[in-house]
Amino acid sequence: MNFPMPTLRRAHGRLMLEDLSLADVAERFGTPTYVYSAEAMTSSYLAYSEALSEIDAVLCYAVKANANLAVLSLFARLGAGFDIVSGGELSRVLAAGGAADRVVFSGVGKQPEEIRQALDAGIRCFNIESAAELETISDIASAMGHTAAVAFRVNPDVDPKTHPYISTGLRSNKFGVAIDDAFDLYRRAKDLPALRVSGIACHIGSQLLDPAPVAEAADRVLSLVDRLADADIVLDHVDLGGGIGIRYRDEDPPTIGDFLAPLIARMRGRSETLFLEPGRSLVGNAGLLLTRVALLKQGEEKNFAVVDAAMNDLSRPALYDAYHRIEPVVAGDGEPRRYDVVGPICESGDFLARDRDLAIAAGDLLAVLSAGAYGMAMSSNYNSRPRAAEVLVRGRDSFLARQRESVADLMRGERPLPPD
Ligand SMILES: *Cc1c(COP(=O)(O)O)cnc(C)c1O
Repeated sequence: MNFPMPTLRRAHGRLMLEDLSLADVAERFGTPTYVYSAEAMTSSYLAYSEALSEIDAVLCYAVKANANLAVLSLFARLGAGFDIVSGGELSRVLAAGGAADRVVFSGVGKQPEEIRQALDAGIRCFNIESAAELETISDIASAMGHTAAVAFRVNPDVDPKTHPYISTGLRSNKFGVAIDDAFDLYRRAKDLPALRVSGIACHIGSQLLDPAPVAEAADRVLSLVDRLADADIVLDHVDLGGGIGIRYRDEDPPTIGDFLAPLIARMRGRSETLFLEPGRSLVGNAGLLLTRVALLKQGEEKNFAVVDAAMNDLSRPALYDAYHRIEPVVAGDGEPRRYDVVGPICESGDFLARDRDLAIAAGDLLAVLSAGAYGMAMSSNYNSRPRAAEVLVRGRDSFLARQRESVADLMRGERPLPPD
């Protein structure tokens, strides 16, 4: 059976990521540990840049999918731009060697301090999500004596046919401005001297498996771009967001090239640069979560494999009922039994997988696949659990990209009440 992760394979019964045995990674760094493949990230980035080679395009990696500095520096070296949603993400991009002039700043609630930070750094563009934010950015830029390059994130009202929590381009979502209101907002922006009208943006959702809704959104966006040009508002870039889906289970997403083909067809011959903001499709199938079985427990109706990773490490199953494939790191030869794979946290929602047939024993290592995106990035310290380590694999080398948290790290900044 082939894995959804391109650089994962089994050799002599043992799981290998690139040329490294995952059992060795667990031995060296302990568990739970996120393990990423540099080659898988690089090849997905190159799939984008090759598909886009015939048009003018900038790939802005969506930092929120996986914000580890090693991951960001890998993409920075490949020439990526970055899509950020906070001042914290901007600090990470700069610390990783990313170029500020390839950064776009999205998000519905940018704080004044974050706007100042971004103007100081000299980012490429603010993706404005409301009329109120337009005035705020203009006021701040003007007070600082800066010019802010801006785009409006428009809401094209197309249904991306994905999970409702990760669908963002419908009229009912909090994101962006209604496409019908955008024309007037551009006129207003053009009159504000501290702003430079630069582009237009949209992002309709995540884990998209069908390019048709994105192409439909692109048509709506481009027709607005043409109407704006008729009114002498000329944009230099069109940002069509991220959202390309990946295989977790048996999904059959188009290749990156096939997904982009209708967008490239629409941009060919146009003067604007195409910006994209992929997250999940660059890192999701480059990473896995390595965990150890603490014990097996026979319940009345179900068997449980209690592991040392939990919903605080990987919350997607609890949050979206997401499916992550689970593989024993060393293939067992016993009879498989059906298990729910659960963590030690005091919540019934604390599961990583349900009803999986596994031949495992206490002490075995498991790999939770396709966990490179929205895994560590959404982790928490719930139940005072220190966050996992993160390791980047390159060929036979393993690089500790983030050391495991300690309980002292968790308590830093807190203090008990002084004596009465
Ligand atoms: C989350 C997000 C992305 C990335 O989405 P993926 O599905 O991970 O590709 C891109 N742009 C914006 C504005 C986002 O909010």
